[in-house]
Amino acid sequence: MKENNKKVTYEMYQRAMEKKSVRDRKQFKFLVIFMMLFFSQLIGGSLLAIFKKDYLNPFLIVSGIIWLMIIIPFVIKLLRCPECGRFFPKGRLHLIDTVQGAGEVWGTSGNFQYYDGTKYVYWTECKYCRNIIWVIKSRKKRLKK
Ligand SMILES: [Zn+2]
Repeated sequence: MKENNKKVTYEMYQRAMEKKSVRDRKQFKFLVIFMMLFFSQLIGGSLLAIFKKDYLNPFLIVSGIIWLMIIIPFVIKLLRCPECGRFFPKGRLHLIDTVQGAGEVWGTSGNFQYYDGTKYVYWTECKYCRNIIWVIKSRKKRLKK
């Protein structure tokens, strides 16, 4: 934990992370909805592939458009300043905290693999409106067994 800058205090960081965890919990229900959408498309597509092959291509195109409509606004949101809305706002990153945590992910061979992950929390200023933007990067390394 470094506190060598006057602009961003540890309290500001904590408050931002509290807000983020509330937001993450709200966003979790969208994740469930998207997963249900994905699986219903998968089942629908499989049924069409078996019984109504002619409808399969239009179905795949419409499904693709739906996903683009979900993903594009999300990507645009990531590239913009939440305050002034301008693109590519991030300036120099300043490390404020590192968070240690272990996690599990699905490995490519289909089994669980354990990772020791470290999250690096940075803050930066919007180049245009000087709003503080939080950046979280995680780096994972596989644990040796
Ligand atoms: Zn801005």
